[in-house]
Amino acid sequence: MSHPEKIVVCGAGGFIGGHLVADLLKQGYTDIRAVDKKPFEEWYQKFDGVENLVLDLQEKEACDKAVTGCEIIYNLAADMGGMGFIELNRALCMLSVLINTHLLMAAKEQKVVKRFFYASSACVYAADKQINPDLTALTEADAYPAMPEDGYGWEKLFSERMCRHFSEDFGLLTRVARYHNVYGPNGTYDGGREKAPAAMCRKVIEAKLSGKHHIEIWGDGHQTRSFMYIDDCVLGTQSIMNSKTVTMPINLGSSEMVSINQLVDIVEEIAGIKLERSYNLKAPKGVNGRNSDNTLIKKLLDWEPSTPLRVGMEKTYRWIYDEIKAKS
Ligand code: NAD
Repeated sequence: MSHPEKIVVCGAGGFIGGHLVADLLKQGYTDIRAVDKKPFEEWYQKFDGVENLVLDLQEKEACDKAVTGCEIIYNLAADMGGMGFIELNRALCMLSVLINTHLLMAAKEQKVVKRFFYASSACVYAADKQINPDLTALTEADAYPAMPEDGYGWEKLFSERMCRHFSEDFGLLTRVARYHNVYGPNGTYDGGREKAPAAMCRKVIEAKLSGKHHIEIWGDGHQTRSFMYIDDCVLGTQSIMNSKTVTMPINLGSSEMVSINQLVDIVEEIAGIKLERSYNLKAPKGVNGRNSDNTLIKKLLDWEPSTPLRVGMEKTYRWIYDEIKAKS
């Protein structure tokens, strides 16, 4: 199938952006620009036949370069990480507002842009809706009255609204997905920005390889989350982008809720090992409970993410295991 549109993926050197470029290539898109701030050698996935640009998208001029001639813009660029990063780097997280703001301004000035995608987060949801680990899942309306995650969540909520107003005031067609914890191969698993699924895999692998059969868990382990496998995320992102009906921010996440203790059980089972657990109650742990209510995405797209956690974690574990072995 021929795909004549020119697409830019911002944040293409990162986890989700890299997988999105891979999928677009697989579908036969030939005119793709990939942009990231990181040096090219550090991109998780690199592709020939793509125009790869290293640009700091907090700068307006860089955004102009990034979007020139593009009809489709995916903004997946942000200075972010797991709880350990976002709780300790609120100002840095908020500075990502410059990326989306300048990309929107550049997109508006480019007369050819057909669609603009912004990657928001479940961190926009109000804190008082996430106190109970056995919570009912979050619906899109639960973002207001606003009391999102400090720093990162406020930036996401503000940028969502910026997309909305660029649509309403300037006619730029924008789409926003609220991602709930995405995991899979080719993402961060160490260094401080990793998220829970990758961190658990790394810790279990390190315990297995070192023979020290112990794991430290952040929080009391009862906090609940849902985790979406990367393939579901990439498919859902494009379905939302191409949809005529998804005009407001929408949940993109799994509704398979587990506690962090259950997540560790799964990784131990994959690794074939049982570890002694200790709980660090002082470590950043985020809200007590969070899950994705998928009623709206099922209604509008007749679809929702569906990869079972056990299946996705097995693939993630294998990739991280090979990476760690290759480095040792
Ligand atoms: P990631 O950190 O792997 O990728 C983000 C990329 O953006 C990085 O490669 C980084 O170098 C790049 N970047 C940062 N600042 C930049 C700048 N000034 N100019 C250009 N590039 C810059 O993260 P990810 O997991 O791929 O997340 C992609 C998007 O999805 C982000 O907006 C993130 O906030 C959002 N999101 C992710 C998750 C998740 O679970 N991974 C959950 C909710 C929302």
